[in-house]
Amino acid sequence: MMPCLQSPTSVYLLLSTRIVHTDSEVPLRKSPRKTKGAIMEDSVARTTISKASRTSKVETKTRAAKRKVVETSPEPEIASEEETEIKQVKKRKTLVKPKVEGEQSAAEELKTVAPKKQRATKTKAKPEDAMPLAERTAIASLKKAMRIGAHVSSAGGVHNSITNAVHIGANAFALFLKSQRKWQNPPITAEARDGFRNLSKTHKFEVHQHCLPHGSYLVNLAQAEKEKADQAYGAFLDDLQRCESLGIRLYNFHPGNTNGDARDAAIGRIAAQLNRAHKATKTVVTVLENMAGQGNVVGSTFEDLRDIIALIDDKTRVGVCIDTCHAFAAGYDLRSPEAFAATMAKFDEVVGSKYLRALHLNDSKAPFASHRDLHANIGTGFLGLRAFHNVMNYNSLVELPMVLETPIDRPGPDGKTVEDKQIWADEIKLLESLIGMDAETAEFSALEEKLQAQGASERTKVQDQVDRKGAKDAKKASAKPRGKKKKAEEDSDGESG
Ligand SMILES: [Zn+2]
Ligand SMILES: [Zn+2]
Repeated sequence: MMPCLQSPTSVYLLLSTRIVHTDSEVPLRKSPRKTKGAIMEDSVARTTISKASRTSKVETKTRAAKRKVVETSPEPEIASEEETEIKQVKKRKTLVKPKVEGEQSAAEELKTVAPKKQRATKTKAKPEDAMPLAERTAIASLKKAMRIGAHVSSAGGVHNSITNAVHIGANAFALFLKSQRKWQNPPITAEARDGFRNLSKTHKFEVHQHCLPHGSYLVNLAQAEKEKADQAYGAFLDDLQRCESLGIRLYNFHPGNTNGDARDAAIGRIAAQLNRAHKATKTVVTVLENMAGQGNVVGSTFEDLRDIIALIDDKTRVGVCIDTCHAFAAGYDLRSPEAFAATMAKFDEVVGSKYLRALHLNDSKAPFASHRDLHANIGTGFLGLRAFHNVMNYNSLVELPMVLETPIDRPGPDGKTVEDKQIWADEIKLLESLIGMDAETAEFSALEEKLQAQGASERTKVQDQVDRKGAKDAKKASAKPRGKKKKAEEDSDGESG
């Protein structure tokens, strides 16, 4: 089915290099409880913080400041950059590994994080600002009930994730339930658990529907070695139990890696672990994420996902999360309305649309079918704004949690890298503004072009890397038939996000 493209009011002004919190200036639609205008900004010049008095919403009454929020280290992987580094990094494990969240203390972070020049300042704990960067849009004011948010920090305790989600105006969110770098983690404290439950009520977050924790990158359910498989299962089950203690229904994870073993066998092991975990828990739905890589990575084709699901005893306990960047990098086009519809039809045919439980919304710094996992900000990558217009107008995606994992690092005043969560706040509003927007207008094209211009140098850089690697692989393949396979396997190890 074609997405609904007609729209009365296309709103989004921006087009200045600086920003443009159009919120109060342009009512998006007629409803009084309006969404705000979209804003997307040039990466360097983001300083303005939306002061926003406008729309009163219950959710915003409780201010972030009332809680002591300690933001330690940032976001999820935001896998993006690590991919570029894979080559240099193979040995430096900590760099390949995504960054950690969870309940690790700032001090621990400082100890365990390998020194990286660009991330030096990120471990500094700082309280969240009192004023939300954007207010949450009332879902009822949207033409389609699209629940958009981001993978927020849970540093200092899982309850902080809710405050952090509110802070950026999110209507859905992801978090890590514990440190992603360690096998052993203290249990969730009663305080954090109760705080999570209370805050989700206060802010009217339906956490059983709109919260999508992300699994640990250490866990590989396809692991064949008994000891390692048991360790992986233990960490996985522990996460599921954490979900159930928090009232969370959906749990997203990367299917696994064959480590060079036969694919069928690996898929069989993943399914067996899932069946076992389902029996040991009651309600949580294990959500398989589609992957970008190839080689040993399981889950970069819809067929892989189908084959895992086929082996699951209780099919109500399994689902799929489509990551737009991963799908595109894996060779599923989403850019034109026709291509998007075809990809969704393919998913329905191969996997079954009833299994689709969530989305990760990321643009891609890497070109189509490049099998590289490099997240870009919305509209700035090879997917482009039109792909997200397709997503935001696709009826069967309503009410699914949609989670941004886009980069928010930027150079701070002293040259060190800082996180700018305004980027997420703005991307959420940008995406919401696409709902019902007419994409065949001059304004849309202007916005599309502006965002593409912002990402131009990154795209060129990565395209160049991909081209050079392709040429190298082709050369190797002709010289030594097994060379290419080896390389693909190595690359897959850097997969994350
Ligand atoms: Zn990723
Ligand atoms: Zn992921």
